[in-house]
Amino acid sequence: MGTESLLNEVAAEVRVCVGCPLSRGRTLAVPGEGNPLTDVLLVGEGPGGREDATGRPFVGPAGQLLTELLRSIGWEREDVFITNVVKCRPPGNRDPQPEEITACGTYLTRQEHALDPAVIVTLGRYSLGRYLPGSRIGEAHGRLRRSGGRFVFPMYHPAAALHQSSLRETLFRDIRELPAALLAARQAIEEERTASVGLEAGPASTEAGVTTRAGDDDERQLTLF
Ligand code: URA
Ligand code: SF4
Repeated sequence: MGTESLLNEVAAEVRVCVGCPLSRGRTLAVPGEGNPLTDVLLVGEGPGGREDATGRPFVGPAGQLLTELLRSIGWEREDVFITNVVKCRPPGNRDPQPEEITACGTYLTRQEHALDPAVIVTLGRYSLGRYLPGSRIGEAHGRLRRSGGRFVFPMYHPAAALHQSSLRETLFRDIRELPAALLAARQAIEEERTASVGLEAGPASTEAGVTTRAGDDDERQLTLF
């Protein structure tokens, strides 16, 4: 089955899921959305009020900031895939419980397998906790990290910056590193693939030749697919 069909299958199951108590308080479940061809998966915490009402991720105030952040590096929401660790809104926007995160985790795992992204961007500590348990956001943010077979780029949650304005600057500074992190991850994945089939590393791929250092005009040329 292709990526899009797999993602659609997950979304259809999520919309009718009663796998944890969050199903009882939701209006609409929020499976996630984005480009099935993307190499970048963004994972937030859980739907808020506007997400619950519309069935779409990050469409409230935090979502507006996320859109701004992506645009600051020349990306659009439609270029990436956006989802959450829990797909249904916790009542009163409370923190998701460990059992709820575990129950919902199988959907996220299936989305990861379907997309096979080069980089997973974690937004906030619940998402970070899934990939880098025990690591602290204050130390981990803004740098590419390895989590099992995946590359993870931790960021603060955009909603945190709505309450604490100093974090806004940190978010914009961190996301500037994301295009270069994506290239580095791709290159490492490519090298590992090459090594695992017993071939010598060939010349640098065309993608790896794209310059994406902060301040370069070429930033927009980085392909996300
Ligand atoms: N906060 C999240 O973590 N996810 C959303 O979808 C919206 C707000
Ligand atoms: Fe199912 Fe996840 Fe919603 Fe719980 S949060 S009901 S596991 S989709």
